[in-house]
Amino acid sequence: MDFRLTPEQEALKKEFDAFFREEMKKAPPMAAGENVYDKDEPFAFHCHLAREMGKRGWLSMAWPKAYGGRDAPIIEQVLFNEVRGYHRAQGVDIQGVCMLAPTLFAAGSEEQKQEHLPHIARGERFWCQGWSEPNAGSDLASLTAKAQRVGDEYIINGQKTWTSNAHRAHWCFVLVRTDPNQARHRGLSFLLVDMKTPGITVKPLLAMDGGHHFNEVYFDDVRVPVGNRVGEENKGWYVTLMTMNFERTSIGAFAEAQKDIEDLAQFCRETKRNGRPLADDPIVRRKLADLATATEVGRTMAYNAAWLQTKGDLPADKASAIKVFATELAEKIAFTGCDIVGLESQIEFGSKWAPLAGRFAHAYQNCLPLKIGGGASEIQRTIIATRGLGLPRSD
Ligand SMILES: Cc1cc2nc3c(=O)[nH]c(=O)nc-3n(C[C@H](O)[C@H](O)[C@H](O)COP(=O)(O)OP(=O)(O)OC[C@H]3O[C@@H](n4cnc5c(N)ncnc54)[C@H](O)[C@@H]3O)c2cc1C
Repeated sequence: MDFRLTPEQEALKKEFDAFFREEMKKAPPMAAGENVYDKDEPFAFHCHLAREMGKRGWLSMAWPKAYGGRDAPIIEQVLFNEVRGYHRAQGVDIQGVCMLAPTLFAAGSEEQKQEHLPHIARGERFWCQGWSEPNAGSDLASLTAKAQRVGDEYIINGQKTWTSNAHRAHWCFVLVRTDPNQARHRGLSFLLVDMKTPGITVKPLLAMDGGHHFNEVYFDDVRVPVGNRVGEENKGWYVTLMTMNFERTSIGAFAEAQKDIEDLAQFCRETKRNGRPLADDPIVRRKLADLATATEVGRTMAYNAAWLQTKGDLPADKASAIKVFATELAEKIAFTGCDIVGLESQIEFGSKWAPLAGRFAHAYQNCLPLKIGGGASEIQRTIIATRGLGLPRSD
């Protein structure tokens, strides 16, 4: 694999960088991570960024032109994600752009592609993921929300939970049981649901930091056209496995990690403790060097995943390895950040008194959910062990 960029790719990176440098000057406080879905002002900025990126074709660079893309090589999309991550810019609806769109390319009907992809590419249609239920998370195939087929429609009844951003999303992709008599994985279907459909109720679930990004979503006799099913009836599990893989790989996470480490290093240069700059402390230096090394490893893994995607083959264990590595690295950075900043790291996120805007204490509160969302680390390790290393299943 050749890691060098062409002059055109270097120029593209500069173009992305200039855009984000300008745009992020306008970012309201708290416009980071899932927070953008909480308060109106950060969410408005998120929508603004999404439309601006959409106008430039940056949400869909590697897609075919017919669906709003630019037919660009996937590396260009990777570079974009990397620069965006470095600037900690939001504006990408992960569920729509990174999860549903590639799923539709792989398994959607022509009508579904025409209906949804151009809206996703323009940054104007946001999605949520209706999979988890109160008694179905890691063991997703035990879900009980059901969809009964009546003529040309499915009628959905049941409850979903931890549905990120459902209160802001226009559409939802749900996994429901369409045949209770088949084996657990076999009786499921993958449906696209307009969140304005009568019978849907969204209730907030507040996170540990008080933020509203999770929800419970209730479906009471919600009618969905049969044409909104992705893939075959009762074969939704196979569509879901594909979507999971797309969820678990991200180069942006490592670029964001790089920026965090650079900011911490700068803080250490500028801050004295016991009369000496923190940057002179060998323990601090070693910690930062360890994080920087791990970040480079992660970037290489993410580039490798992108390259495998261009070959049309991203094995599940590779996607799981990146997910575990990225989220555990985020945790290490958050812990180290709090440690280095010291007691002042506890000042509230966004406060003008907080060193580094209180980012590391906020990250500290958010790193545990990162290791659970998209499939918990224990589950990812089982996938790496069984599918990657060929070890026997323990159950
Ligand atoms: C930030 C975040 C965002 C999320 N967003 C969404 C969303 O948008 N849509 C959605 O549908 N869901 C979402 N979820 C839910 C998420 O997918 C589930 O929380 C996750 O799959 C774990 O399921 P659970 O919460 O039911 O925990 P459980 O499955 O009850 O797991 C509890 C603990 O037991 C461990 N465990 C369970 N089974 C095993 C096993 N077989 N081997 C070893 N250990 C095991 C788990 O690793 C975990 O540590 C989100 C969760 C988070 C934290």
